[in-house]
Amino acid sequence: MTTLASGSLCALCGEVATVVIEPCRRTLVRGTDPDDASFSVTAILPFVPLCDEHASAVHEGDRLVGWCDDPLCRMYGEVGEASVCGNEYKELVPSGRSRAARHQHPSER
Ligand SMILES: [Zn+2]
Ligand SMILES: [Zn+2]
Repeated sequence: MTTLASGSLCALCGEVATVVIEPCRRTLVRGTDPDDASFSVTAILPFVPLCDEHASAVHEGDRLVGWCDDPLCRMYGEVGEASVCGNEYKELVPSGRSRAARHQHPSER
């Protein structure tokens, strides 16, 4: 079910990743499109590459994988750690069942 692109590095330690896991949410709303305010931009997040050790740590809940959406980064890291751009990786909160936004059409009347 999971495929691993060769050369992927563990999101938490930078060692060679051996597995990929699905992040707890796959989409990230970036807000409205600067060119068209009636359209909201939703990013699809990639799978998380992890080494064996951290795959089980994340599975056990010992470590939390976060995401930095700064254009410089747009990558995974450990929640609370500073990313390349200086901001911390933010926890990905499962979107739950509140608003299942798949293909959002710009809904301007
Ligand atoms: Zn690791
Ligand atoms: Zn960053």
